[in-house]
Amino acid sequence: MKNRIDLHVHSTASDGTLTPTQLVELATKYKLKAFALTDHDTTAGIDEALKAAAELNPQLEVIPGVELSTHAEGRDIHIVGLDIDKDSPAFQKHLKDFRNSREVRNKKMIQKLQEVHIDISDEVLLDMFGDTVITRAHIAKYLHQKGYVRNIWEAFPRYIGDGAPCFVPRGKIAPRDAIRMIQEANGVAVLAHPLRYEFTSSELEDFVSKLAGEELDAIEAIYSMNGPGDEQDMKLLAKRYDLKLSGGSDFHGMTKPNIRLGFGRGNIDIPYAIWRELRMS
Ligand code: AMP
Ligand code: MN
Ligand code: MN
Ligand code: MN
Repeated sequence: MKNRIDLHVHSTASDGTLTPTQLVELATKYKLKAFALTDHDTTAGIDEALKAAAELNPQLEVIPGVELSTHAEGRDIHIVGLDIDKDSPAFQKHLKDFRNSREVRNKKMIQKLQEVHIDISDEVLLDMFGDTVITRAHIAKYLHQKGYVRNIWEAFPRYIGDGAPCFVPRGKIAPRDAIRMIQEANGVAVLAHPLRYEFTSSELEDFVSKLAGEELDAIEAIYSMNGPGDEQDMKLLAKRYDLKLSGGSDFHGMTKPNIRLGFGRGNIDIPYAIWRELRMS
């Protein structure tokens, strides 16, 4: 219990609803030993989290991280980077390219939404959310607040979910680009939530084997949305390709209200030893 950690967490720097300081407070309340802040395409929340931990709970290890969206096999594949040297100029330059590709994608999605007579623009999103990395979760919130959908989840199948009418995929950055960029910043590269990509099990195995050949360090075997047996399956898959294990809740605060920091849906318990092993990569 005392050893519990969480290696996949979002703050208000992307689409989470808690500030980095509030995350530190919650991690303290839940007695976590460490958590990684892994916002989408940004490290903007990390300094605040490190500062809050130093002031409020020096025992708590805050691991600088990031979650990068890449494209492979016709899918949006997420790679988490852990313990990155976030101040590396090369790393920040690459991150900026990721955010630019996101902004280009967002503009195209906004245009498609306008074409179906939705009153939306860059400016109204900036007004509502401020200067943060705008994701589809933000667009869903906007559509809900303006009454276009009954709840934020409805926005995905109707408008902006993968394959929905106003969805636009990201530019084609490959997982190996993200892996390289993370490792060049001395970080550990993890395939996030391997079971969320709708691969068949043999397709997933082929894909993981390919990423293992591209120097992937680990797969996120322990994950909030896992069903019975999934964690064990992913652990065996990792073993077959000599990959390490990671684990995280993918906590987003009220964006994903059924997921609790460090505990997921009550189905995860990630010991500190997972991080110790991973860091040896
Ligand atoms: P983006 O990075 O802009 O593609 O947005 C991805 C984010 O949108 C995810 O991290 C989730 O927070 C949210 N999201 C994507 N698909 C769904 C879905 N079907 N239901 C609820 N949230 C989703
Ligand atoms: Mn998200
Ligand atoms: Mn993800
Ligand atoms: Mn995530």
